[in-house]
Amino acid sequence: MGYRLFLQLFIKNMKNTIKKIAVLTSGGDAPGMNAAIRSVVRTCAFHNIECVGVYRGYQGMIEGDFEPMNARSVRNIVSRGGTMLKSARADEFKTKEGRKKAHEQLKKEGVDAFVVVGGDGSFTGALLFNNEFGFPVMGIPGTIDNDIYGTNYTLGYDTALNTAVDVIDKIRDTASSHHRLFFVEVMGRDVGHIALNVGIGGGAEEILIPEENVGLDRLLDSLRESKKAGKTSSIVVVAEGDKIGKTVFELAEYVEENFPFYEVRVSVLGHMQRGGAPSCFDRVLASRMGVKAVESLMEGKSNLMVGIKDDKIELTELELAIKGKSKINAELLRVSDIMAI
Ligand code: ADP
Repeated sequence: MGYRLFLQLFIKNMKNTIKKIAVLTSGGDAPGMNAAIRSVVRTCAFHNIECVGVYRGYQGMIEGDFEPMNARSVRNIVSRGGTMLKSARADEFKTKEGRKKAHEQLKKEGVDAFVVVGGDGSFTGALLFNNEFGFPVMGIPGTIDNDIYGTNYTLGYDTALNTAVDVIDKIRDTASSHHRLFFVEVMGRDVGHIALNVGIGGGAEEILIPEENVGLDRLLDSLRESKKAGKTSSIVVVAEGDKIGKTVFELAEYVEENFPFYEVRVSVLGHMQRGGAPSCFDRVLASRMGVKAVESLMEGKSNLMVGIKDDKIELTELELAIKGKSKINAELLRVSDIMAI
């Protein structure tokens, strides 16, 4: 260990009152969650803080489903998708009685603080928990949708983009072998970050996102223009929360009826976007976020989410992270229009 690190460790331990930290993954799983667990566990080990893993999110917390973790408990997980601690939806945690049970379990276990890797639902639970019991909490954003305010990237988003763009490349091969129009639905109920990025990266002719209602007429016009411009196949990337069609299948049906030039096909990528080995970007991000989460708790901080802005790890109030809206990148919208000429 270098002298500088040793000195930092010494100073931190002098004022640290946090002796045991719990880590859990909650809500929808995302690639990179394992790397975040590993980072929290190893940062605790580095600072001589005990660490326990909580299985199945807040449900496991209510039931006291804990396991002591050390640096070796998290070997070989940095490259694995999913979460070794499992994730769960825990409706009981939405009630005061449920949170009280969870608090009793943490106290019984001697835990002083927790780090939750999850989305805004998980952060809402953490904040309520802190308000009720004065218990220090820290959030790490883990969701493929990238829909959390206060960070340029959430864990799993970069991996999901790479997975989706890979599939679109494959679909293009079959689309271009026939006169086919493919509607490819990607994840994103409320936000179109995945659709916009994989649409550009995968060379889509149109990208339909919840933030912009293109309208059926403009979509048909655009497809007619594409044909006039000499395109014999097309890919339209649709975010699942797109507002034009009720479903991507109804949208496809409408286009097929009104624009018979193409055979229309639909491909819904679904849960495959959540799986797979995390990208290097997500692994590094998770490692950085875990270190910051633990060291911030050691400094007496709480109710914060660790995020990344302009390649700097920064903290945002959990309340803001929950209430704020992540915005679609206007420059990317323009780029996608130009690329589709
Ligand atoms: P995400 O964290 O990905 O947004 P959810 O919305 O499903 O996923 O939330 C995950 C868990 O967080 C829930 O199962 C529940 O235990 C807890 N949670 C969500 N919303 C609240 C809330 N309003 N109050 C307390 N706990 C909540």
